[in-house]
Amino acid sequence: MIPAPFTYKRAASVDEALDLAAQAGEEGKFLAGGHSLMPLMKLRLAVPETLVDIGRLTELSYVREDDGQIAVGALTTHGELARSDVLRRELPLLAHAAGQVGDPQVRHCGTIGGSLAHADPAADLPAVALALGATLRARGQSGSRDIAADDFFLGLFETALQPGELLTEIRIPKPSSAGWSFQKFTKRGIDWAIVGVAVQGANVALVNMGATPIRAGAVESALASGAAPREAAAHAAEGTNPADDLNGPRAYREHLARVLVRRALEESSARG
Ligand code: FAD
Repeated sequence: MIPAPFTYKRAASVDEALDLAAQAGEEGKFLAGGHSLMPLMKLRLAVPETLVDIGRLTELSYVREDDGQIAVGALTTHGELARSDVLRRELPLLAHAAGQVGDPQVRHCGTIGGSLAHADPAADLPAVALALGATLRARGQSGSRDIAADDFFLGLFETALQPGELLTEIRIPKPSSAGWSFQKFTKRGIDWAIVGVAVQGANVALVNMGATPIRAGAVESALASGAAPREAAAHAAEGTNPADDLNGPRAYREHLARVLVRRALEESSARG
């Protein structure tokens, strides 16, 4: 439970963070809220030589309307998302889901950028980013680039970010449909999802149904063909590859996905 030795550097600006990360090379990692990275380091499943602490970059902590979209700074904590008046009004799915992450201590420290960059398939906000059609803005030494959430999650804990690239902002279009729902099945209120579902309009994304957060493509196709929520939800497990683990076998997760997608689509229709 004790991490391997590492060098700690604290960045005072985004530019300094990028410089420090470039100096650290492939053995460096950004440290945001530390609520995913530090547990991994204590178990020595992550052994970075250098940590570049970005936790005090307040310039990356904000929620604002910008050019018809909602812009969220990568260092915004889950708690700040949950309390944001802008999000509650414009993107209630994100505000609500952020309020379901872990417990108050986790929500106080954990950040949206850390959650997306960590790419844990059991995490809540990656699936929400998919359902909202978010764009992730990353900055490296050679400038900024935008990555669609659909292209961001490449594998288990693997994203499209390059070494030393910093996620700076999440940009989300204002939804055209008011309907949304977030369903998270846990044994205890503070747990990670055994299965989760995020719905915004006709977009449906699943938590913990594969190595990455995924869109429920077969459900979305059924909805596009005019299927009712119950009928569309029957396709929820198609194209998924959930784990068999202590929380339940694969068939159990597939069943949960169908049930939760039905509930989510019904709740979303009632709101829409
Ligand atoms: P860190 O731990 O600091 O970093 C995680 C990874 O992302 C690291 O590899 C780091 O280098 C990288 N990174 C961080 N920020 C950036 C950035 N801006 N650009 C590029 N790379 C970056 N999550 C859920 O979704 N649902 C839950 O129910 C849940 N329960 C939890 C319960 C507990 C007890 C704990 C400890 C965590 C839980 N989490 C849960 C995870 C929590 O939400 C984490 O805070 C979050 O996943 C990671 O955010 P962070 O800011 O702590 O990132």
